[in-house]
Amino acid sequence: MRQPTDLCLLCKIRPATKTNSHILSRFISTAFLEGAGARKGFSLDSDTILKQEGDQVVLGRTKTIQDSPKENYILCPECETYLGVVESLSRDTFITWRDKVALNEFSLITVIPGELKVLECTSSNPRIIRLFAYSLFWRASISSLDLFAEYSLPCDIEEELRSTLHKYEGDRLGFLAKIAADPNFSDYPYGVVTSEVFNNGDANFLMAIPHNALGFSTLLIDRFAFMLYQSLQVNDAAMQGPFNNRTLGDCKMMVVPETVWKMLFNEAPARVLLDISKNNIK
Ligand SMILES: [Zn+2]
Repeated sequence: MRQPTDLCLLCKIRPATKTNSHILSRFISTAFLEGAGARKGFSLDSDTILKQEGDQVVLGRTKTIQDSPKENYILCPECETYLGVVESLSRDTFITWRDKVALNEFSLITVIPGELKVLECTSSNPRIIRLFAYSLFWRASISSLDLFAEYSLPCDIEEELRSTLHKYEGDRLGFLAKIAADPNFSDYPYGVVTSEVFNNGDANFLMAIPHNALGFSTLLIDRFAFMLYQSLQVNDAAMQGPFNNRTLGDCKMMVVPETVWKMLFNEAPARVLLDISKNNIK
């Protein structure tokens, strides 16, 4: 258990006195909690989602949650404020992209009719959006919360993300000045997927899928899936797709119909959880 006297995991200089730091930025991680009526979701755990009752396997108790995961004593107040600056500068790209398409600020280009579109976030700063994505992967990797217990990036990537994020630490003006003065940093390829519409967003997940043998890891954050690749050599179909952000100047997302989203990011992860749980029972 970390203490307020431990050093901040981002700057490694100041004490990590901040409490309730969100691991996944709140603005993209809580829409699925906003269903009809009370704000709540369910924490599905492969250890408890299924349980044996006599001869039968039944659904276990799920824990009700009302906010996305928070952790104490991982950051100092200055680094918490800095990550908040990166978040606030990134928010509109994720939350109002449909409005930006309507205003011709972003382009939505059909690649495969009925299956795949690419969103070009032309008016966003690609480096800021990339740093925001890095901050999600880094926070999930350093978190000790149960949701991220199985999730960590390879040490060298985690440290590279930390030092890259730390390099630009500052308040809003300081951060923007540093990015403008020194715009180059490690360009791990990353991808973002979302759905064109969410008529039934209540089935969405928060899930961290560890770095796999192919060389990438995935964060499923409600209405967005983020993939981070260790290099351009990763042999994955999505990595080679036209929506992937390969260079520092890229700022794209893959946009799929809701049916495809459900298949990839609701049903497939639910099946993985159920399979792990069934194996635990055997
Ligand atoms: Zn710090």
